[in-house]
Amino acid sequence: MSQVLNPTQVKKIHNFSAGPGILPQEVFKQAAQAVLNYEGTGLSLLEMSHRSKEFIAVMEKAVALVKELFNVPAGYQVLFLQGGASTQFTMVPANLLPVNGKAAYINTGEWAGKAVKEAKLYGQTDVIASSEDQNFSYIPKNYTIPTDAAYLHITTNNTIFGTQYKQDIDSPIPVVADMSSDIFSRPVDVSKYALIYAGAQKNMGPAGTTMVIVKEDLLGKTGRQIPTMLNYKTHIDKESMFNTPPVFPIYVSMLTLQWLKDNGGVAFAQKRNQEKFNILYNELESNPLFKPTAKKEDCSVMNLTFVLTNEALEEQFNAMLKEAGISGLKGHRSVGGFRASMYNAMDTDSVKALVEVMQALATKQG
Ligand code: PMP
Repeated sequence: MSQVLNPTQVKKIHNFSAGPGILPQEVFKQAAQAVLNYEGTGLSLLEMSHRSKEFIAVMEKAVALVKELFNVPAGYQVLFLQGGASTQFTMVPANLLPVNGKAAYINTGEWAGKAVKEAKLYGQTDVIASSEDQNFSYIPKNYTIPTDAAYLHITTNNTIFGTQYKQDIDSPIPVVADMSSDIFSRPVDVSKYALIYAGAQKNMGPAGTTMVIVKEDLLGKTGRQIPTMLNYKTHIDKESMFNTPPVFPIYVSMLTLQWLKDNGGVAFAQKRNQEKFNILYNELESNPLFKPTAKKEDCSVMNLTFVLTNEALEEQFNAMLKEAGISGLKGHRSVGGFRASMYNAMDTDSVKALVEVMQALATKQG
């Protein structure tokens, strides 16, 4: 059950928001209870010390769940930080791009471009492949990874343009991946990555914390001074408690990870996400009023972007969506059209509800 209900509202809302995105209803209930009285302590989780045994247990459980769900090998550290994925655009080169060294980036869209911009502040940053020539509608395939670069940075899911790497890539140099919008949507071989980061607010929790999985032996080699808060070692040494961590986002992320584990983990997520994708993609291929914007083989299972073939129908379609309780379908302001974000917590019924509206629009057009 992932419908969004509150006490004053009876109609099911199908939440297709790109982020912050849908979370499981049972997580909301547990989180609401924790705000009122955390596990019978008589205190709200919001008014407890982050050094309390209760919160330390939350942090430890969140880290343990990440390790379990992703089968994280020895030698990697799991961190819960602040500053969003955008701060990782800075922390990654600060910690991994050596003074006088270079880094390689693949530009698959707006977020990848922002990561490139920050890396350039730290050193030579080569964009070795880009899909900008076709408005980021595909994932580049033909490129050579320079073996003398310190790392290769990719964005596994392009939230805005709706493309996604479907597999872990093979690389002769360490791979750094922004997985903000597809973290835990499928199994990942963590050993193929030097560093994975993800803002929580799409597939693993609310806004306010960023999860980082980092291979520890790659750190401390840049030859540069790193500001304390931007240094991964600071947070590793203090187990993400160097300063006050965002207790509530970490708690709700922990609950969401527990929910995922209880439902069958990333294998379950992958299967259901593919089912949802297939239902919607089939409709986009068969309904003449719609067309997907990303290349099929690279089309994101998380964020499916599409347009109406006749823009004049937009107002009517939007009114029908509203009537059916379908929310958050508007495309990103920079690209327009529509974007169905179908994160882990969304059940298949919500996608079926969307498809029904698309079919009803086609019927109305005769
Ligand atoms: N990377 C990707 C792929 C994203 O989708 C986003 C946010 N939409 C970001 C980075 C930036 O994340 P944040 O807002 O947490 O800084």
